[in-house]
Amino acid sequence: MDARNNVATSLAVLAAMAVVLALASRHFLAQYRADPIVAGPGVARVVKLSTYAPNIRGRAVDTDVYVLEGARPGGTVLVLGGAHPPEAAATMAAVVLIEQAKVAQGRLFVIPQTNLSGFTATPAGLGWPEGYTIRTPRGPLRFRIGAKVSNPVHQWPDPDEYVNTGTGARWSGEQGRDLNRTYPGRPDGYLTERLAYALLELIRREDVTLVLDMHEAPPDRPLINAMAVHPKGMSVAAEAILNLELEGIKVRLEASPPNFRGLSHREIPDHSNAIAMLHETNLPLHGALRGRATEAMILTAQDEFLVYASRSGWTGTTHPPEGVPIEVRTGRHLAMLYELVKALTSQQPQHAFAFESAPGYQEVVRKGLGAFLRMPGESPNGQ
Ligand SMILES: [Zn+2]
Repeated sequence: MDARNNVATSLAVLAAMAVVLALASRHFLAQYRADPIVAGPGVARVVKLSTYAPNIRGRAVDTDVYVLEGARPGGTVLVLGGAHPPEAAATMAAVVLIEQAKVAQGRLFVIPQTNLSGFTATPAGLGWPEGYTIRTPRGPLRFRIGAKVSNPVHQWPDPDEYVNTGTGARWSGEQGRDLNRTYPGRPDGYLTERLAYALLELIRREDVTLVLDMHEAPPDRPLINAMAVHPKGMSVAAEAILNLELEGIKVRLEASPPNFRGLSHREIPDHSNAIAMLHETNLPLHGALRGRATEAMILTAQDEFLVYASRSGWTGTTHPPEGVPIEVRTGRHLAMLYELVKALTSQQPQHAFAFESAPGYQEVVRKGLGAFLRMPGESPNGQ
């Protein structure tokens, strides 16, 4: 082969690579496009989380905090969605509150995408969809799914072993990018530790009374349709769960283990005046015992392999063949919040909290999520 042929072949390969890279980078960059979250009429202001911790200003974890204020003073409540981005119903419950809820007494802080970095990349090699679409009467709305942990582009390299220096807990290296391993965080640590620290700074400076950290877990894990609670919050959680049971919603109450460290429901109450609870609904997506990960699985939690596994006794809960629609899972998170604030108000009247209006469980299940989501650009009072 002569030199001219070599040059031509090299140029052709380079050109082909440029085309592939251009197409791939478009795909990767699309994961950075913000989701359609619209401040509703109850939102008084939106601030960046870095307001409480300048070390994350402008970084990939500097997420939006929506503040809803009642006319009467009372307790302060913080609701976290998207601490683990793939857990879609947790994000959706936060978005429904931002777009529809109004507060009568107290203050409500809502963070829909708590680990914002995690929303920017799906995990490699798992074949997950990139997002899911919620149909509304005014058109489809697309939301990202991301990964459970911060994007490695934002926090790299992982250590061989992640040691949470605040608690002494040791995890595999990748777990240092899981927000729910890095509490109480450090102001100058790994990026995800800085995020945990910023959340605790918000909780301390705003004197938050109650934190609800919303999650979803696969049925092959023990904590499904359950809530993990620190001893400081046990009586408020127990009253809420009893009242939910009267409404036909069953939730298992789990005491937060004292030696399982680095998690929100353990470290937030240990490092602030707040009580905190972690509430889980059912999503097969990030478990090991499941079929193909599809967009439909996110929306319906339907999975024939899990039905078989649960019939064989391999899951903590029985997985229904019809799945658990995202409306039911979102509604469970909302119903839990409403009962928690009622229990808080009855047990700690100095921290009373009341909604003026907010979509209820039955309403969300009956009308579908699309009825409660706003279109981008829509005015807060527009319908
Ligand atoms: Zn989770």
